[in-house]
Amino acid sequence: MAPDPYPADPYPSNACPPELRRAVVERYVARTPSSKHAHDRASHVLPGGVNRNIVHHGPHPMFVASGAGPYLTDLDGNRYLDLIGNYTAMILGNCVPQVMEAAARQLALGTAWAGATTGEAALAEMIVERLPSAELVRFAASGTEATMMALRAARAFTGRPAIAKFEGGYHGIHDFAMISVAPDPNDSGPDEAPRSVATPGIAPSATADVLVLPFNDAKSVTALIERHAHRLAAIIVEPVLANAGLLEPEPGFLPLLRDLTTKHGIVLIFDEVITLRLDYGGAQAMYGVTPDMTTLGKIIGGGYPIGGIAGRADIMNWFDPTKAGGSVTLSGTFHGAPMALAAGIETLKLFTADSIEALNGRSARLARELRAMFERASLTLSLNQVGSLLNVHAMAENVSRYRSGARGDKAFLKLLHLAMLNEGVLLSPRGLFCLSVPMDDAAVDSIRDAFGRALAALGVLGER
Ligand code: PLP
Repeated sequence: MAPDPYPADPYPSNACPPELRRAVVERYVARTPSSKHAHDRASHVLPGGVNRNIVHHGPHPMFVASGAGPYLTDLDGNRYLDLIGNYTAMILGNCVPQVMEAAARQLALGTAWAGATTGEAALAEMIVERLPSAELVRFAASGTEATMMALRAARAFTGRPAIAKFEGGYHGIHDFAMISVAPDPNDSGPDEAPRSVATPGIAPSATADVLVLPFNDAKSVTALIERHAHRLAAIIVEPVLANAGLLEPEPGFLPLLRDLTTKHGIVLIFDEVITLRLDYGGAQAMYGVTPDMTTLGKIIGGGYPIGGIAGRADIMNWFDPTKAGGSVTLSGTFHGAPMALAAGIETLKLFTADSIEALNGRSARLARELRAMFERASLTLSLNQVGSLLNVHAMAENVSRYRSGARGDKAFLKLLHLAMLNEGVLLSPRGLFCLSVPMDDAAVDSIRDAFGRALAALGVLGER
């Protein structure tokens, strides 16, 4: 007898009968033998058989062979509508001719040198033109570096040691950012004063110097900031908490952060690595709240590695190497790599206000149609949608706090991820997904229909 491909049930969701859970997993296994083979091989040389923890999922990760437009193709030739887009980076989809040509022109000239290039100022000018908060800009090689350096500049500027972040917020993988990213809501202190929760390897000093705030809880946030203001250099926040279940700020919440930080001389950092896509000027333009600094990444690199730090001149000038009295060193071998700059410039040229409006409109329609479908499901499903970002939750409506989202049925979302792969759609195993510009009305219809078939396969929607 063939070994059971999935002996222990890692998807203990009460929402679906065990035989349907098993059928979904087995169908995925049958469709992806080459991914399994590649993962087995990779497991000999890569911890967990993957190079990015986030692409790991059971029973084995799907291995991508190529991308074209809004689609990815796996090693077995299965095609998927890509609703992750490299975690929201691929705003124009894959292999956009104008972007590829710009990168290829740069490739022919060389890929990186220890010398200034004109692409740096060219992309910086575009960011200054779009982002209300951007007076000066610097580029790094990842969003992680962008948030790490924005926080360091804030410490230099204020002379204070600590920072505040929100429970569930993700800002990359450096020590200060990794506090309370996905803590167990039942073991993270009181709702109104969460404790700092570290994962293995984080410096204890980082844990001590990060104040954790509850998103959308104005009263508690006010009390915590008032109490700790004297030691806070910065508050870093995704204006829409994309990584914590796509939590939209309640009316008045971002203005409150603006007022408190202004009152206490704390640097307000909006991490717009993801939310830049929401509006021509990012979420700060959409909500009309201008932070002191903004961190960027993903789409501004046009598919290549990049990070960006933008903000008020008096803070950004701490990066000026000629600064009297010493500066904050920001200098990486691949910072502002010319191909990323070239691809980013073309991407921002194509990501116009009109294309953003059209994209957000298609996303709103998808959200309406999915919500109508979810009303017919036997499981309580809800959907958060802001612009072209969406997040399905296996729990009650209106998830607006980290802890309520974190208590949803995670096992069901993992099953939904596999069931959607079986239907030719890639979304994240935690429920986050996004649309990209090349996804037209027909693509939106097919995403909706794939959800219908996947939910039926999981036994939570009547017809198949
Ligand atoms: N900030 C936010 C909001 C992110 O979503 C991410 C990555 O997903 C980062 C920072 C880190 O960016 P990178 O993965 O380029 O280091």
